[in-house]
Amino acid sequence: MTFPKIELHVHLEGTVRAGTLLQIARRNGVPLPADSVEGLAAVYEFRDFAHFLEVWLITTGALRTERDFRQVVVEYAAEAAGHGAVYLEGIFTPAEPVGRGVGWDEVFTGYCDGAQQAAELHGVQVRLTPDIPRRYPLEAAELTARRAVAYRDRGVVGLGLGGVRTGQGRRYRIGAARGRGGGPSLGPRRAGRARRRPDPPRDPGR
Ligand SMILES: [Zn+2]
Repeated sequence: MTFPKIELHVHLEGTVRAGTLLQIARRNGVPLPADSVEGLAAVYEFRDFAHFLEVWLITTGALRTERDFRQVVVEYAAEAAGHGAVYLEGIFTPAEPVGRGVGWDEVFTGYCDGAQQAAELHGVQVRLTPDIPRRYPLEAAELTARRAVAYRDRGVVGLGLGGVRTGQGRRYRIGAARGRGGGPSLGPRRAGRARRRPDPPRDPGR
């Protein structure tokens, strides 16, 4: 018996299977370190975190069009449905492809169309929480937040902050608040931190 499942934290760029990546990269004329599913699957083998990041960049670098983003969502929804998923919240990082010249709306439309198709084809409700990597400039945070608001009726339900903690969370909270304008909330963990006013007293022992 399969129990209905929900998944609340999945990075969609990290769900792309070797066969799909091969297909997308060929479509976009993007070179890959291997040109067969088996070869690429071997590249996917986990070695260490540095290698994981390399594979991550190989994948994200191949995603370029609305169709690619849509395909990523629909294929992952199909896979998740096979495990009994009925609801999932997918994370994606729009500022990354935008930095490579992809349009903001192309990214958002692709993922949002994917969410719609996932429901139609696989009966999985997909909601989206785009995220802002901390190493990106504040402008990218604001633009991500604004687009998140603009697409709230198309499945965007939140906004995340990702990447290495740099102590710049406050800057991004300002950016997110500016972009929010009554729209999606920050992710649960971050929202808890953002609401923390004033800062709790420090441990006197420190
Ligand atoms: Zn994460």
